[in-house]
This record gives sequence, structure tokens and C-alpha cells, in this order.
Amino acid sequence: MEPSTVAVVGAGAIGVTATAELATRGADVTLYERGSLAAGSSGRAAGVCYDAFADRTDARIATRSLERFRELPSVFTELPYVWLARSGDEKRATAIRTQSRRMHELGLDVSLVAPDDLYDRFPGLVTDDVAVAAIAHGAGYAETENYVEVMAERARKNGAAIRTETPVEIATDPLQVPAADEKRSFDAVLVAGGAHSKHILDTAGVSIPLKPYRVQALVTDPIPTSETVPMCFDATGNYYFRPHTGGLLVGDGTERVESDPEHWQRDADEEFVQQTRERIAERIRPDEIGVRKAWAGLCTATPDGDPLVGELRSGLFVATGFHGHGFMRAPALGERITDEILGGDGVRRFDPTRFDGTETFEIVAGMDIE
Ligand SMILES: Cc1cc2nc3c(=O)[nH]c(=O)nc-3n(C[C@H](O)[C@H](O)[C@H](O)COP(=O)(O)OP(=O)(O)OC[C@H]3O[C@@H](n4cnc5c(N)ncnc54)[C@H](O)[C@@H]3O)c2cc1C
Repeated sequence: MEPSTVAVVGAGAIGVTATAELATRGADVTLYERGSLAAGSSGRAAGVCYDAFADRTDARIATRSLERFRELPSVFTELPYVWLARSGDEKRATAIRTQSRRMHELGLDVSLVAPDDLYDRFPGLVTDDVAVAAIAHGAGYAETENYVEVMAERARKNGAAIRTETPVEIATDPLQVPAADEKRSFDAVLVAGGAHSKHILDTAGVSIPLKPYRVQALVTDPIPTSETVPMCFDATGNYYFRPHTGGLLVGDGTERVESDPEHWQRDADEEFVQQTRERIAERIRPDEIGVRKAWAGLCTATPDGDPLVGELRSGLFVATGFHGHGFMRAPALGERITDEILGGDGVRRFDPTRFDGTETFEIVAGMDIE
């Protein structure tokens, strides 16, 4: 039997997409958010979106997400995504060659690009030190808070109730969502609490293997050449950037230390800011680099690098563990988890019951090429 009442916990990209989707398909859905919309990682994300995945399932999810982003021209800007290895970095050069061939075989608009051709196309980019680069044409960036607001508005228009400033827990048998002022029963509950998902599920006595880790980003002052660069990931240097309001948004890779989602350093480290200035000085060669703002945020790791998306117990669903790729996959995964909540199929590979929650594991990299 299809659930008629559904609670969603967490108003990040995943939670609002699922809420909008559930409401559109006729469910009576209530979204609970402990802060404001996009208060978690979604409001801190870079918004880089691409289909450059070498696995068929991942590629399908990313392709579907891009289709949905393109329906929102006020949110999404098309721009190719380039990832590169520098001369002397044979390991990553080989990996990029293999990845791009595989992506091409999957039918994605991805190819290797010679450094000179890359420079001709994006003259703001320094390519002298590039050994191998690949380009994904099906890519772009989204304003992440804007996306969350647009989806929340869609959810409201379709009858969803959105309760911000309302932290909740989960109770099972029967399935209930206790907030400070009420305790409501639901046919189904989706936990999309980002880095807090493990804690939220702990309140229901359900354990998931999830480790939050910190990543950092900054936005520069305007740089005249920023409009002549693609979105780019320097795999050797392990940093990425994209144009942002006349300057650049630049971020780093994985910090392999578990963070406590209640107590973590929200400001960027001075070392990150300094290192980023040096990286941009080499890759873009601007006359000067002013930093407008810098910050940190949390991503989530699982034992095998795949997310936890699906049903944990009868009526209790989860969607988290995205290794820094949650925003770009939110439109498609919001649809897929809705399918599953409403009785259809989910994504088998992401089944959260593939672990028992007690696993010990190291945080593995999301973007980095090992
Ligand atoms: C600096 C940075 C850059 C990134 N760049 C990219 C990128 O370019 N592309 C990309 O795809 N991904 C990127 N990511 C990753 C991306 O941000 C996440 O994968 C994605 O936002 C996860 O969305 P979410 O909805 O699962 O979680 P979140 O956005 O964290 O939402 C979870 C929500 O749950 C709420 N919540 C928590 N506990 C409770 C409770 N008890 N009751 C009610 N509500 C609760 C939180 O307040 C929060 O709003 C980046 C992340 C960071 C930090």
C-alpha cells in the first residue's frame, strides 16, 4: 500500500527535491528542518554539476539530474567541466585517459582535449604544465541556495507543509517524528539530514555507517579572465574552481578526518586560503587575488564510497553519504527515493541495508583520483 503521509527530515537539496516530488505525486508530505532552508551543506556547496562518471548507474543519475537542472534556467548555467593531470603525474594522467574512454563508451559527451586546444578554447587557463586533460561538455553550475528555494516553493505549491526551525527525532513502532511541540505519526519517514543523518537515526535506534568530513572553499574578488575559464579540477593539485560573480569559487578535496557534525570549524583555515591563492596564481595568473569570503562545510563518507539511499526498515528511508557529490545528484536521487517511498524501485547499488551500521572504515576521497 502506498504511504499517504510522509515526513522528510532536512531541507537541503535532497530533502526539498524529495518533498517537491512527493507532493507533486499526491503524497501528504511534511518537511522538517531544524534551521532555515539550505542551512546545512547545500547552502555551502560550490554547485558544480557534471555527468563525468565512469560507472553506468552514476552516469545515468547524473545525466537525469542535468536534465532537471536545465529546466531551471534561473538556477543553472551551462559550462564545460575539465579535469587534468600535470606533467610528471603519470598515475593521474593514466586514470584520466581511462575514465574519459569509459565515459565516452557510456555515451557521455566527454573526450580528451590537448592542452593547446584547451588553451585556445579557454584562454584564461594556464595549460603549460598540463599532461592530460578531459572535458565533459554536459556540465554547468547551479546557485545552490536558489535551487533549494525553488524546490521548496514547488513543494509548497503542491501542498507540502514546510516547518523550519523545527529539529526533530525519529521514533519507531509506530513511526513517529517527535518535535518540541508535537509528536506525529507518519506512514513513511525520509531522513535527509546530511551530516546529521547518523545522529537522527540513532534516535530511532538505527545505526548507519557514515562519517562527516570537512571541506573548504572561498570566493575571490573579481578576476577579469574568470569568464574565460571552464569549471576545472586539477587532480594533481587536488583543488577545483568555477566562475563566480566575476571572480572564482575555489575548493579543496577531502579532509580525511571525521568531524563531529555539532562541533566543527566553520571558518576556513588560513593555510587553505594561502594555498588557494598560490594555486590560482599558477593556474589563472591574475594581476592580484583578493578573497571575498572563505568557509568550510561538511561532506559525508560511507565505507564503499557509494551513498546510502533507500529503505532501512519498514517505512523508514534514508538518503545521505554523497562524498561531496550530493548536490549534483539531488534532482535524480530525489526522484528515485520518491519512487521507492511510493512503492517502486530504488537504486539497488545504494541500498542502505548493504551494511549493518557497525563497520569501521577510513574516509575515502570523493573527487580525488587516487
Ligand atoms: C564547500 C563544499 C562544496 C561542495 N561542492 C559541491 C559541488 O560542487 N557539487 C556537489 O554535488 N556537491 C558539493 N558539495 C556536497 C553537497 O553540499 C552535499 O552533498 C549536499 O548538499 C548534501 O545535501 P543534503 O540535502 O543531503 O544535506 P544538507 O544540505 O546538509 O541538508 C541536511 C539538512 O538537515 C537539517 N537537519 C539536521 N538535523 C536535523 C534534525 N534533527 N531535524 C531537522 N532537520 C535537521 C540540516 O539543518 C540541513 O539543512 C559540497 C559541499 C561543501 C561543504
